[in-house]
Amino acid sequence: MGACLLSACAPRTDCEVHNVIYMIGDGMGLAQVSLLQIAEDYAPTAFDRAEGVALIATRSANNRVTDSAAAGTALSTGSKTNNAALGIDTAGMRLESLAECARRQGMRTGLVVTSHLFHATPAAFYAHVAGRNDMPDILRDMFASDIDLLIGGGRRMLADSLPDGGTWFDAFRDKGYRVAESSAMLDTLSALPVLAAVADKHLPRAAERGDFLPRAVRKALDLLDGGSEQGFFLMVEGSQIDMFCHGNDAGALLGEMRDFEQAVAVAMDFADAHPGTLVVVTADHETGGLTLPSGNADFTLPESGVETRFSSTGHTASIVPVYLYGTGADRIRGLMDNTELARQIKRMIEK
Ligand SMILES: [Zn+2]
Repeated sequence: MGACLLSACAPRTDCEVHNVIYMIGDGMGLAQVSLLQIAEDYAPTAFDRAEGVALIATRSANNRVTDSAAAGTALSTGSKTNNAALGIDTAGMRLESLAECARRQGMRTGLVVTSHLFHATPAAFYAHVAGRNDMPDILRDMFASDIDLLIGGGRRMLADSLPDGGTWFDAFRDKGYRVAESSAMLDTLSALPVLAAVADKHLPRAAERGDFLPRAVRKALDLLDGGSEQGFFLMVEGSQIDMFCHGNDAGALLGEMRDFEQAVAVAMDFADAHPGTLVVVTADHETGGLTLPSGNADFTLPESGVETRFSSTGHTASIVPVYLYGTGADRIRGLMDNTELARQIKRMIEK
């Protein structure tokens, strides 16, 4: 299949989906997006550019309140599993992730995150383990996945000595990967496959890591797009939205939302320039039970401020939004289960 040409398929919604950019704001419910809108005084954000929206329910197989492993597995494979499980169903059977499906179609694959690379959401796209904390098995599966581009944190574990000598970094280098161990080195990467682990564990918070995420997404799109006949599948996670909702830290949460929004804008700009690209922006679950109540219960008064209130330090059972942009954006709509969203994306990339 060749690239979808503008002249051959106007409007672009008639095109075949060639590239998928799947963006997951970990813990990003509607209130988190609303908080960003309010903080920006309703100036248009990338979320406002969406050409379609949908809503997804997030329960896992064994809990109405999901964790990121079960939700990541649902978003990645289209199947429910129990909390803490990654890439396997409730009977322990291996599930095919969207990254694995894309690879089977000859598409290039990539993951860009602001957590370490073995955290639940990225691992849901390559690992098949019963426990999200089974680090040696998750690292083994990441190595075996042959994902073309891996950008995030986790430098310390990748630098650990292996029983047979060397480190995971050495093993990836031996396999032909270009390795970056700092954010500055990202810019020097010019060909796939790529492993960039630029922080010991998670990346620092948005206020300290600067434009890492939007820059990493731009770099990933450059590398994945170059000369690709079959297109690509890229998953991007705003990993730390969840972390600061757990911590009930509205200021740091807002920083993470601003950062994620900039990454979404990069993806949407790419879709504008590359017809055949579908951008799906969603969340695995809501974290913190964030609400934005009025500063005064008397609604006959004019504006009296908007408060940020968290009702939990954990996850919640709320439905979460899906924003769609680019080719195929009109083909996903309505209220559905998180597994159905993954199945619809899978149908678009399976030839
Ligand atoms: Zn969480």
